[in-house]
Amino acid sequence: MTQQKTNPKRDIHWADNIAETVRKRAQEDPILKKVVKQKGYIVYDEKTPSGRIHIGAGRGWVIHDCIAKAMRDKGMRAKFILSSDDIDPFDKMNKDLPASYKKYLGVPFRNIPSPVKGYESFADYYFSECTQKFEEYGIEAEIQSTGHAYDKGLFNRTIKIALDNADKIQEIYSRFSRKGSIGTKRLPFNPICEKCGKIGTTYAYEWDSAREVVKYRCEANLVDWAKGCGYEGEVSPYDGLGKFPWKVEWAAKWPTIGVSVETAGKDHFTYGGSRSVAIAISDEVFDFPPPFPSSRKDIGKAYEFFTIGGKKMSTSKGMGVSFVGMTDYAPATLLRYLLVKTRPHAVIDFDPVGTNKIILLYESYDRTERIYYDKERIANEKEAQHEKRVYELSHVDPIKKTMPIQIPFTYAAALVQITGDAGPAMDALVRTGHVPVSISAGEKKYIVERLAYAKRWVDEFAPDDYKFIVSKSVSGKMKGDLSDAAVSALLLFRDKLLKKREYTENECMELIKEVVNESGIAPRQFYRAAYLALLNKEHGPKLTSLIKMIGQKETVLILTTLEK
Ligand SMILES: [Zn+2]
Repeated sequence: MTQQKTNPKRDIHWADNIAETVRKRAQEDPILKKVVKQKGYIVYDEKTPSGRIHIGAGRGWVIHDCIAKAMRDKGMRAKFILSSDDIDPFDKMNKDLPASYKKYLGVPFRNIPSPVKGYESFADYYFSECTQKFEEYGIEAEIQSTGHAYDKGLFNRTIKIALDNADKIQEIYSRFSRKGSIGTKRLPFNPICEKCGKIGTTYAYEWDSAREVVKYRCEANLVDWAKGCGYEGEVSPYDGLGKFPWKVEWAAKWPTIGVSVETAGKDHFTYGGSRSVAIAISDEVFDFPPPFPSSRKDIGKAYEFFTIGGKKMSTSKGMGVSFVGMTDYAPATLLRYLLVKTRPHAVIDFDPVGTNKIILLYESYDRTERIYYDKERIANEKEAQHEKRVYELSHVDPIKKTMPIQIPFTYAAALVQITGDAGPAMDALVRTGHVPVSISAGEKKYIVERLAYAKRWVDEFAPDDYKFIVSKSVSGKMKGDLSDAAVSALLLFRDKLLKKREYTENECMELIKEVVNESGIAPRQFYRAAYLALLNKEHGPKLTSLIKMIGQKETVLILTTLEK
């Protein structure tokens, strides 16, 4: 390769740093060097499609995608492969499934019918509902099927090595797990029962290396979640007739696929957990350096959880927030931005319901965007560079030459409460000059999407502080709450508004100052009175913006109802 030498200066973004570290490792390790020469840098992730997939897994997908992108930006030949572990056994019912699915417990997911029509299998349904969203999230992945890889015989070589070294693998299991655990006794291969089709219930007890067959039993009590049929037989372990147990499979994938990077959630990285066992097997049995962040010697650091409202929720319980469902709260672009901006080692706790977290996310995104386009200057040059790189890596479509029109989310949320919906809100933005008349369809779509999310936020998730209804007239009760001084200040303001058909927000601000000076009322009292009159609340969105949103004429009409 004719790439420039390693840059001694540290990169500004975590994904760029990882790319550089991985490049260095490949230069230093002869095995990795050969793999990379042949296949390029494979950034790999995998997921069992056991049900609706949690956003925590989505965090991993964006992280891997981002690393592969950062590598390509450095001129490295890199791609992200995501494999569906669709030959894993169905081991837990979830609440979305009919009771009739109990009979499939123990069967590989790819051999179970889809709970929804139109999909090849259970595995296909749950996996493709996620991958269908990849374009929205800007994830570029080559989608593979682990079951298919077995069918094609890709694992045949590692299966033979593993079975020939079964004692070594059993020893590794006993090093990490409690005495008597199943991995310390059985052969590292689970055939699919030829009689009942289950894979979760088979126990391989003999490997005939000369004939290359394994003897196995389909046991009634091997696991407590599925019952085997009692069949006993022998079968070739190759070409998809069975699979490795999970931890062995993890290790076998690395040399088979040629993986340079594969990180995982920290639940896999506990001492003695699946990653420790896989690293030992990769090193001692397959003689292959485990992918970043691990090495032969060191497990490295996993990525942190993505929790919703402080809870880490699991997929199989059917609880929590799914990868697919997250776009109910915010557009995929913003969720990707959140994941790109946050270092993988930091916990993300996102509680979109009844909080201002969504506002903060939009504000943070808009700020990054302004910094990217040099519309907002910040003193810290390093931070500015970081924000710009975050913007690049979060961007799904090619970045536009000019900055998109930003409608602050709080403004959007106030506006849709006045207009009732996104469409009329868009018209109001054009009418008030926030948006030019001649914008492209793409620009319009972008703004309407934000208004629609604002509408949904107000309707379903916003705290009461952000909700209001514009008064048609000032109620009698409200009048009672307002002092005479407040009423006359508001009427004075009304008179000033009447002098010109359309004041700008700045001019409106000047009018408020005049009213405060002339009437002698404290500014705070004036604002309180104005919000009470217009919204029946003591607080609200920025008053001058609110007046523009309600309309100057309508504001005048409301204030006029203060007259006796
Ligand atoms: Zn069976």
